[in-house]
Amino acid sequence: MSAPVVLITGSSSGIGLATAVAAARAGFTTVATLREPARARELTEAAGRAGVTLDVRRLDVTDAGSVAACLAGVAETHGRLDALVNNAGVSNSDPTLEMSTMAALRANLEVNFFGVIAVSRAALPLLRATAGRLVTIGSVHGVVGQPFNEAYCAAKFAVEGFMESLAPVAAAHGVRVSVVVPGYVPDTRFGVFPDIDRTTVQAASGPYAPTFADYLAWVGGQGWEAAGQPAREVAEVVVRTLRAERPAFRVPTNAWAAAYLEQKLADPDGATVQTLANTWIGRPQGLSG
Ligand code: NAP
Repeated sequence: MSAPVVLITGSSSGIGLATAVAAARAGFTTVATLREPARARELTEAAGRAGVTLDVRRLDVTDAGSVAACLAGVAETHGRLDALVNNAGVSNSDPTLEMSTMAALRANLEVNFFGVIAVSRAALPLLRATAGRLVTIGSVHGVVGQPFNEAYCAAKFAVEGFMESLAPVAAAHGVRVSVVVPGYVPDTRFGVFPDIDRTTVQAASGPYAPTFADYLAWVGGQGWEAAGQPAREVAEVVVRTLRAERPAFRVPTNAWAAAYLEQKLADPDGATVQTLANTWIGRPQGLSG
């Protein structure tokens, strides 16, 4: 039998790049896709160092024509698709909801939610034919809300709800659906914008600046940045999920992420997380303050 075929979105950097290399090393025929083929150098150099070959193709998850053309090309070249990894994602550059625009908020959902749905929808007929795997990179912030990151969290929450709803239906037709849930992964391009850093963002956050400062202090202190893990570790979790006979629906990528999720998942009415999040933004008195 030929090697299983996996398609990964957003492979130009970070978790997608690491997953493409790890999947190829694990024996998958790997279709590493990116929205801008001119940005393939880092990917092809990493593949070269690892001694693996990738099938590099263009795929912009927000462009219906590009999604359809890529999936048709994979079917034509490989004759099958055994797994999809929805990895492509973008962060916010706006400091606060009030300073953002509806266009910017919609653009975030367009990649992080509708992009995932568009590629999954196009891939499902091929995945049904192979009893394949549909894996999406979620986030701990797709379960626990993150101050100052509302649109991103909304998109990742939507992905969780969408995939949780799809999972039993897809499984009934042979396709296993999982969401892999990292915490903080520093060695990526996520949240890196030319000319924008935390100082400029905070300066632009108007009346929210003191609250923003308290939140950044928490993030860099005992918050989620204290528990980063490398992209290659996340990639290994993705590959294990692709190969598992019965992968879990939600797969935290380390013990820290699992413990973070448990705060919410054992919290049916949301009070615990709201109280915690208040302390992250300098309101230790929580909901009563
Ligand atoms: P990254 O290095 O910025 O990678 C994001 C990838 O998505 C890039 O390859 C980017 O391509 C691609 N992308 C953006 N818009 C796209 C589009 N319209 N079509 C196709 N590809 C597009 O960041 P990363 O951390 O590896 O992010 C990967 C995933 O992990 C995301 O879903 C993110 O939400 C999730 N995640 C990240 C962290 C973290 O701390 N880094 C934590 C939890 C979850 P370009 O090069 O063309 O921009």
